[in-house]
Amino acid sequence: MTTSSEFSREYDVVVVGGGPVGMMLAAELRLAGVDVAVLERLAERSPHSKAFGLHARSLEVLDRRGLVDRFRAGARSWANGHFAGLDEWVDFSVLDSSHPYALLVQQTKTEQLLEERATELGADVLRRHEVSAIQQDDDGVTVDGQRPEGAFRFRAKYVVGCDGARSLVRKTAGIDFPGSGGRVTARLGDVKLREGEDAPMGMERTERGLLFCVPLEEGYHRVATFDFAVGKDPAEELTLDELTSSMREIWGTDHGAHEARWLSWFTDSARLADTYRNGRLLIAGDAAHVHFPVGGQGLNLGLQDAFNLGWKLAAAVHGTAPSGLLDSYTEERRAPAAKVLENTRAQIALMNPDPDVTALRGLVTDWMRLGQVNHYIAEMLTGVGVRYDLDGPEHPLLGVFAADLQLDIAGESRKLSDLMHDGDAILLDLGGLPETAEGVRDWAAEPNGKVRVVEATCADRPELAAVLIRPDGYVAWAADRDGTEVRKNVNAALERWFGQG
Ligand SMILES: Cc1cc2nc3c(=O)[nH]c(=O)nc-3n(C[C@H](O)[C@H](O)[C@H](O)COP(=O)(O)OP(=O)(O)OC[C@H]3O[C@@H](n4cnc5c(N)ncnc54)[C@H](O)[C@@H]3O)c2cc1C
Repeated sequence: MTTSSEFSREYDVVVVGGGPVGMMLAAELRLAGVDVAVLERLAERSPHSKAFGLHARSLEVLDRRGLVDRFRAGARSWANGHFAGLDEWVDFSVLDSSHPYALLVQQTKTEQLLEERATELGADVLRRHEVSAIQQDDDGVTVDGQRPEGAFRFRAKYVVGCDGARSLVRKTAGIDFPGSGGRVTARLGDVKLREGEDAPMGMERTERGLLFCVPLEEGYHRVATFDFAVGKDPAEELTLDELTSSMREIWGTDHGAHEARWLSWFTDSARLADTYRNGRLLIAGDAAHVHFPVGGQGLNLGLQDAFNLGWKLAAAVHGTAPSGLLDSYTEERRAPAAKVLENTRAQIALMNPDPDVTALRGLVTDWMRLGQVNHYIAEMLTGVGVRYDLDGPEHPLLGVFAADLQLDIAGESRKLSDLMHDGDAILLDLGGLPETAEGVRDWAAEPNGKVRVVEATCADRPELAAVLIRPDGYVAWAADRDGTEVRKNVNAALERWFGQG
């Protein structure tokens, strides 16, 4: 039923929420030819950045689409990170990654660049559109809401909730969001400190809690207190008075904090959705997982959700998705989120001011000086350790994010990342696919075009015969030169991920 003020349109996919994850997903869907709208209630992006940086796996992902230089322009990179604010830094330079560092990009900038990308590719980004009701049926989903001109009603084949921690899409889909926490309260402000104050930078643990202080631009500092004792009434906004009183309580001084341009508070609530899909409703980013923002992982996790989901949802929209493809999104992305919840909870436990924890911190700091421990934590924080548990013939690369191989293609030197800008899957024939594999080559033929066969040589990996790389960069199948039944195996993998050729 429509009213005269109602604006109505049909899309393949409606993305609810135009934060970083919604924009990333919209761009990936457009790349795959999907008609998509992003509905965002805010008139403009928030000028206050929650996240400060991008980790290695997110940078690798952006590199696969030729975007990483946009993010690197003018941004500083940093070879280190912290774990639980311990004295020993995590060294990212040891990572087996083409981007073994953290890139310091404010969330506002990340959102701007992703929105530009989504709109360049033709997504309809509709601001001041607040979704209030969603209903799915056998044929699609109806999305109702309000925009300044009046009510709107959209229809879509699928709706994805990238609508943050309080996700309406998740609630409407009836997806449980169990978790723990609510014991630690963080009070945060972007403030000016008294002139000449020599406030310690980074994290400092005291007998009462933990402090965080870093300089921002234009003379501002971001300060935060992590209080393990005094909670907060959720009905009350954080005030500057409350922040400075918490600073004095935990730090002994408030360093003359004044002129707050942004105040916010949150708890250590850690929640993970039971599933990321119910029928035609899906969720991604904070709608699917929330945790304490320690180690800078949440936005990164969400971007990778979007990268995993984009090509799968596009195949579902185009009617070419093999059975189970869309459900593999939950299977693959829930596990890394559970690991992030686990490591953030562990970090919170290590930040507790309890004196026994001081002893534990000393021990863990010693462990972190061991190369293998540093490597483990670096892979964990940056997502580089993510490996999907994929079916298929055992190979060390199966389920791994493909390294940015240096290739020789008809005498021209190319990186694997250069071949992936248009979002196709790539079957790299490194001289090991049998000449008779005609069926395989059919996958690349128009109008399928789902998988591009690329003949190349790779001097760095002479043992590899062929590698099938999904649009999200993960290896779906690989064979060495001494492997047998290469063609049979590759056909099974092609059918598993891309349906009938
Ligand atoms: C203090 C702090 C520091 C952080 N630091 C880091 C960090 O360094 N690194 C990191 O990786 N992560 C960090 N995070 C986490 C990161 O900010 C989030 O994970 C990220 O914002 C999630 O993005 P999202 O797109 O999923 O959701 P959001 O950013 O929450 O975006 C959701 C969007 O949906 C819109 N929306 C919601 N409901 C509706 C509706 N009904 N109709 C229309 N629109 C709607 C909202 O207006 C919003 O724009 C930090 C978080 C905090 C709080």
